[in-house]
Amino acid sequence: MGNDILSRRLEWRKKEERKKKLLTGVFAALVVVLVFVVIWAGTEISKIRKNAQGAGNGQAAVTAESETAESAETGAQTEESGVVMGAEDADGAAAAEDGAWMLILVNKDHPIPEGYTVPAFTELRNGNRVDSRIYPDLQNMFDDMRREGLRPGITSSFRTHADQQSMMDQKIKEYENAGNSHEDAVKLAEEWVALPGTSEHELGLSVDISSEDRDTQSPDRIWSWLNENCWKYGFVQRYPENKTDITGIIHEPWHYRYVGKAAAKEMTEKGLVLEEYLETR
Ligand SMILES: [Zn+2]
Repeated sequence: MGNDILSRRLEWRKKEERKKKLLTGVFAALVVVLVFVVIWAGTEISKIRKNAQGAGNGQAAVTAESETAESAETGAQTEESGVVMGAEDADGAAAAEDGAWMLILVNKDHPIPEGYTVPAFTELRNGNRVDSRIYPDLQNMFDDMRREGLRPGITSSFRTHADQQSMMDQKIKEYENAGNSHEDAVKLAEEWVALPGTSEHELGLSVDISSEDRDTQSPDRIWSWLNENCWKYGFVQRYPENKTDITGIIHEPWHYRYVGKAAAKEMTEKGLVLEEYLETR
């Protein structure tokens, strides 16, 4: 009898232990699953946040004072020419045709290729648009400038042919209002504004960068930072002071052109403008 009770009790205890083990196992599995879910959700959320931030900053990047834009633009003419490719990697690992778009040359002698269209735009906060392919690097550049206490703003980016034409018309009017004949006004305007179809801005790969607020921060600080660092983000100062005879464009410290990181690095190291760089290829 006693043995019977004892063995039953043992049996019961074993059952209890098995139950416990089972429960522990289930609980452990649940914990593992929960941990995975939390990690996964965390990654997703941070991805979403990053995207949202990117968008927000992008817009912030583009707080432009249209006045500054205009005054900066007064000097802006643009150009470009042939199509060459640039390797994204320093090693030149990227396939040639992958980079062709970055090195399109537009200048007086090289109008925008017939039928050229920007594949996709990213709109910045103040309504400026850029070719979406340059946006991540542009955003990083602006983020890094801000981290150093600079407050840059984009005063001009993509322009349609019509935009460029109306800039030209406006400039001609200004000269006419100043008392010049129409003919002279046209000539004078063409010294300052690129002929429609020959402005790099029509590619969506160029941005004019100034100070977000000229009263509180001189654009010189921004331009000198850009001069030193823009190549790291794939940009070059397109119309430097000592190359006006080659570019045919006055010194424009505010005009930056995306050419990709490999080309920007090489052009900066060798002191070449796009026209020269393309000839070496
Ligand atoms: Zn410009």
